[in-house]
Amino acid sequence: MILIDETNKIECCGCTACANICPKNCINMIDDFEGFLYPKVDIDKCVNCGLCEKICPIKNKFNGRNETEAYVAQHKQKKVLDESSSGGAFSAIANYVINKGGVVFGVGYDESLNVVYKYIESIDRINLLRGSKYVQSYLGKSLNEAKCFLENGRLVCFSGTPCQIAGLKAYLGKDYNNLITIDLVCHGVPSPKLWRRYLDYHISKSHSSINEINFRMKTYGYHSGTMGIMFTNGKVYRGSARVDYMLKSFFSEISSRPSCYDCAFKTVSHNSDFTIFDCWNFSKMVPKIKDNDRGYTAILIHTKKAKNILNQLTNEIEYYKIDLNEVIKLDGKMVKRSAVPHASRKSFYEILNCKSLPKTIEETIPISATDKIIEKLKVSIYKFGMIKIAQKIKNIK
Ligand SMILES: Cc1cc2nc3c(=O)[nH]c(=O)nc-3n(C[C@H](O)[C@H](O)[C@H](O)COP(=O)(O)OP(=O)(O)OC[C@H]3O[C@@H](n4cnc5c(N)ncnc54)[C@H](O)[C@@H]3O)c2cc1C
Ligand code: SF4
Ligand code: SF4
Ligand code: SF4
Repeated sequence: MILIDETNKIECCGCTACANICPKNCINMIDDFEGFLYPKVDIDKCVNCGLCEKICPIKNKFNGRNETEAYVAQHKQKKVLDESSSGGAFSAIANYVINKGGVVFGVGYDESLNVVYKYIESIDRINLLRGSKYVQSYLGKSLNEAKCFLENGRLVCFSGTPCQIAGLKAYLGKDYNNLITIDLVCHGVPSPKLWRRYLDYHISKSHSSINEINFRMKTYGYHSGTMGIMFTNGKVYRGSARVDYMLKSFFSEISSRPSCYDCAFKTVSHNSDFTIFDCWNFSKMVPKIKDNDRGYTAILIHTKKAKNILNQLTNEIEYYKIDLNEVIKLDGKMVKRSAVPHASRKSFYEILNCKSLPKTIEETIPISATDKIIEKLKVSIYKFGMIKIAQKIKNIK
């Protein structure tokens, strides 16, 4: 009896490996009431071959060890850095792969702004994948498409959350010399349903469709990342994690997938080539250089392949070797431990299903009057060009 679709929700990260491997094509990924996808088996078609359970990366955790080294990097191009969430290391690796004739898989938006996987084959399209989207991404047919490219001998770079990379590797079932994997340090993913509710809220409030969106605008600097929405009617919305509904839900640990609170991929040794994450404490890691507040990527190198690539990125990025234990202690806590759920996590999506988004936030993670005032002050101070001074005096982020 195959139980893959009766799995405890904590034991399914939604990587889609089971649905892709099934020889009878009888597993569909169906969303639950929170808006997260889970496998559903068509019992009439299932032949009990057991493949789906055999390859599930949660049921078969990676126990390997590698000689991990740590680096911190910043892209040399201002435009790339402005569009990247941290230091633009992803773009440098993507550029390397495309220059070698390869293809890069990553996460962008579709025409309705759903957060989806896509692949790119030219350098002028790297911007489509640049920047973190703090939502669980739709993998679609990406695992299968990546396998086809690999089998045809094409160089493939696949980036994603650790569970998505583990799902890809489980599905592939063997090592490919022509595969480069990049995973992100990740504390959780909110559901696509929450994201849709957030988009609809803004579209209705501004009476306009959305032209562009950025979860981590650096208008106020890297250390004060802000959600930015550019509407087609010319309006612009900016909101920090203090007041923005999406960022506040994400950072308060109230909206992540159940598997994220007991994540099976919290180890320093990863089954990927690169692990990338935010380096907030650059000045402590590299004291001889002043933090320019434009963003730095911490990079863990797990394989010789990754080290060899990093050595060839000197035209794109400035990078420095740093102490592995120190970067994990200062910036990489989420490398090793899962997020602790917010006290109202259980009721969050139940409330969202029957009330408006603002009402849901008000009832679960209310925005304080102080936070509203600080946010307004920040905007005014910025307009008068005094944001850097205010940040230094009052630590306004
Ligand atoms: C859901 C999520 C949670 C994260 N949590 C943390 C954290 O707790 N601590 C931390 O230090 N860093 C976290 N990060 C990573 C961080 O935000 C940066 O992405 C990272 O520092 C790399 O930045 P970069 O400037 O080098 O590249 P960027 O250009 O910013 O990175 C883009 C890369 O992220 C991928 N990506 C974007 N959105 C998604 C998505 N929804 N799912 C899968 N892949 C995606 C793209 O495909 C691309 O490979 C998280 C990222 C995501 C997507
Ligand atoms: S973790 Fe992946 S392989 Fe395992 S049940 Fe969930 S979707 Fe399927
Ligand atoms: S047991 Fe085999 S046929 Fe049945 S769902 Fe799993 S992979 Fe598909
Ligand atoms: S926290 Fe773990 S389970 Fe959740 S998205 Fe990240 S890697 Fe996947």
